[in-house]
Amino acid sequence: MPHVVIVGGGLTGLSVAFRLKQADPELAVTVLEHKSRPGGNIGTEDHDGFRVETGPNGFLDRTPAVPSLCSDLGLADQLITGSEAARKNRYLFLGGKLRKLPGGPLGLLTTPLLSLRGKWQLLTEPFRRAPDHLPPDESVAGFVTRRAGREAANVFADALVTGIHGGDPAQLSVAAAFPRLPVMEREAGSIIRGFMRAAKKRRQEAEARGEPRPGPQRMWSFRAGLRVLIDGLTNQLGPAVRTGVRVQSLWPAVGVAGWGVRGDGRDAWSADAVVLACPAYEQAEILADLDAPLADDVAGIPYNRIAVVALGYRKTDCPTAPDGFGYIAPQNTRRDVLGVQWCSSIYPGRAPDGFVLWRALCGGVHRAEVVDWDDDTLGRAVHAEMKVAMGVTGEPVFRRVVRWPAAIPQYVIGHLDRVARIDAAAAKHHGLFLTGNAYRGVAMGDCAEQGEAVAGRVLSFLATTADEGERE
Ligand SMILES: Cc1cc2nc3c(=O)[nH]c(=O)nc-3n(C[C@H](O)[C@H](O)[C@H](O)COP(=O)(O)OP(=O)(O)OC[C@H]3O[C@@H](n4cnc5c(N)ncnc54)[C@H](O)[C@@H]3O)c2cc1C
Repeated sequence: MPHVVIVGGGLTGLSVAFRLKQADPELAVTVLEHKSRPGGNIGTEDHDGFRVETGPNGFLDRTPAVPSLCSDLGLADQLITGSEAARKNRYLFLGGKLRKLPGGPLGLLTTPLLSLRGKWQLLTEPFRRAPDHLPPDESVAGFVTRRAGREAANVFADALVTGIHGGDPAQLSVAAAFPRLPVMEREAGSIIRGFMRAAKKRRQEAEARGEPRPGPQRMWSFRAGLRVLIDGLTNQLGPAVRTGVRVQSLWPAVGVAGWGVRGDGRDAWSADAVVLACPAYEQAEILADLDAPLADDVAGIPYNRIAVVALGYRKTDCPTAPDGFGYIAPQNTRRDVLGVQWCSSIYPGRAPDGFVLWRALCGGVHRAEVVDWDDDTLGRAVHAEMKVAMGVTGEPVFRRVVRWPAAIPQYVIGHLDRVARIDAAAAKHHGLFLTGNAYRGVAMGDCAEQGEAVAGRVLSFLATTADEGERE
């Protein structure tokens, strides 16, 4: 039986392993994970009734990849969806005040977030023709400014990029970070029209399947937190997951088809196929001796830094705090906090009765140094903002700080060209597959989707090599 080694036991690596075993239970699969706990960015901690997500806070049902993983793992009955308030009430923290983001076209007409001119530029987007010669790779800020005006870019594109990437809209490539937007411009001639067409298509597809009219996108988690997904995957994979192994290098096996993989010390594995699903900077180290130009290209994918600061308060100390998802602090008026998720307002069971749990994300591309502040300084900075933004009147009763020195890969201008070069170079190494959130999407749904796709590619590779072996 062929042996597949997967390096990195985050959501991507575990999804590859699970989909491989699901397709062929006889296949030998080993996941080598550096830390003592699989899951990578995903983790849930319980502290005296406060349930803290240390990385992602939930996943969107924009793609079916995570929901289908959950149902295949038998976890669907443990899923919970974000509250209605979290869906409807999202805010910006502007000029010392929370301002609600508009929820639909009517909200756009009346929002105080845009001037009359800003509203006009946004609402006339469907009538703006794309220029004949578009730049080869445009920034998110450039694209949104061109389509919908500078104000819409400063308000909405900034909020989107901060909320998803913790990045800079002027540096990120729109085609890499939000691939649907340029496609909508090309195919529908407009983003607004593109979204309307996509919604209509979803409605028609649901009708054709005899399903009820699809609702808006939702955020999901589990009652016991996102660790349920990681526990579900690792339970299914059993001894296939080896923790505490930091892979250092790999080399093509001499004389036979396949690969050698070296961990710390003398640990080594042989494999017919190897999947690198660890972060890009780790992939680069592993690839350095095998293919230096490929390793250099992989190493060039930058990451931001993020500190997650979770604070718990007594409800009586937050008399005016609204219910909802949370807020983003736009770049031009930001203090030390990128944004805050009101965890106990999004999901039930995140704080003990009579308390709230909020989670601030600090740092990002512009304020990376904040991540190095000690816990007390970070806690004080977030609490100071909570007094202004949320009107808290008492001290926090709970605090947990988690640092991610390399948090979210940044798909900067040129990312897609880089990924194409990486794909072409990696394809020359038969049986080597590079994946993970560094390449084709950072959301959990993208990672699960990639996991499924790479498992399919590994299976076809193994089938082809088996056929070739038989012919010989
Ligand atoms: C603070 C934060 C908040 C986020 N919020 C959201 C959110 O709300 N919703 C959402 O959809 N997404 C969110 N994301 C993004 C999402 O969590 C990640 O993109 C996704 O979990 C990445 O999965 P991955 O498996 O590709 O990589 P990782 O999770 O980075 O996993 C890689 C694994 O490889 C291991 N590893 C590293 N080097 C080696 C080595 N040499 N040998 C063996 N193993 C190695 C690591 O220990 C790690 O376990 C967030 C991310 C962060 C950091």
